[in-house]
Amino acid sequence: MTDPIPTIAPPPELLDALESARRPLLIAHISPDGDAIGSLTAMGYMLYRMGKDPILACQDKAPNTFNFLPFYDRITQNVDGVNADLVIALDSSDPTRMGSIYDEAQFADLPLIVIDHHITNVYFGDVNWVEPGCCATDEMIFHLARALNETLDEALATALLTGIVTDTRGFRTSNVTPAVMHITGQLLDAGAPLAMITERTLDTRSMALIQLWGRALDTVELADGVISAVNTIDMRRDLGGLIRAEGLVSFILGAEEAKVAAVFTEMPDGKVECSFRALPGYDVAQIAFDFGGGGHPPAAGCTVDGDLPGVRREVVARLQEVVRTKAR
Ligand code: 5GP
Ligand code: MN
Repeated sequence: MTDPIPTIAPPPELLDALESARRPLLIAHISPDGDAIGSLTAMGYMLYRMGKDPILACQDKAPNTFNFLPFYDRITQNVDGVNADLVIALDSSDPTRMGSIYDEAQFADLPLIVIDHHITNVYFGDVNWVEPGCCATDEMIFHLARALNETLDEALATALLTGIVTDTRGFRTSNVTPAVMHITGQLLDAGAPLAMITERTLDTRSMALIQLWGRALDTVELADGVISAVNTIDMRRDLGGLIRAEGLVSFILGAEEAKVAAVFTEMPDGKVECSFRALPGYDVAQIAFDFGGGGHPPAAGCTVDGDLPGVRREVVARLQEVVRTKAR
């Protein structure tokens, strides 16, 4: 019988580098999501099992939501003075995504490996393993585990499934192939708790987030197929600091008339974080890339200098062009 999971082979240079590393520094991207933390903990746990002494790092604190993952408590925001011998960037499409963790002075002399599934990846490593066909970086780590003959145990399977569940919003995206479902079957066989992961990472929200959604939903506008909303500093002043309107952009894309959705988050440093979603057939990755960000055709983002109304106007106009071009 043919294997229902076609092989996706990591580059030999990556396998060699892992083989010889003793203290690899693993970096997940800033404002980490489930795939960033899932691939960070899966890699960290697997390398530890292989007898390495990995450092798991992320500039921003990993949300408590993910505290069920192996080595969650080992994730550090401070790598001053660590004696790493290899750096691995995970789920990061360009070097800025590593944030303050990648200190050039400290790490520029070490080999840098990039493991990522974003089509907008700029190949910034010495070894770049980029698979835009994979639904999650965690899907790539599954293939890496296979190439290394590493067995799936419950902890590893849980970390791998977390990235797959979150990046596909619960198997709802068009990059969920039969192979992804077969991989998921193997992860379930190994004991990964799908219902718990889905409940914790997709269905549980804080009261503050629900209130923020309420306020942001009041700002929804729809024109020429583009729906957008804003999350201002004022709106979240009494909600416990900088919270992102997690999940809102996918929700508003559900409007019948919308082809593309955007949420604009006003930041204290005079910048605006933009988060985009698109229906199949529309590409928001290119626009995000043009504004210095990146992502996937149906889900992308960027951070733009400027005031909130101005950025919203300029970016929405560009997104409307995307919709018009497709409609022709
Ligand atoms: P989200 O809207 O969920 O924050 O991000 C959607 C997708 O776009 C994710 O794959 C994320 O990695 C990517 N993305 C979001 N913001 C940025 C950004 O500022 N720069 C880059 N390179 N990618 C981003
Ligand atoms: Mn990802």
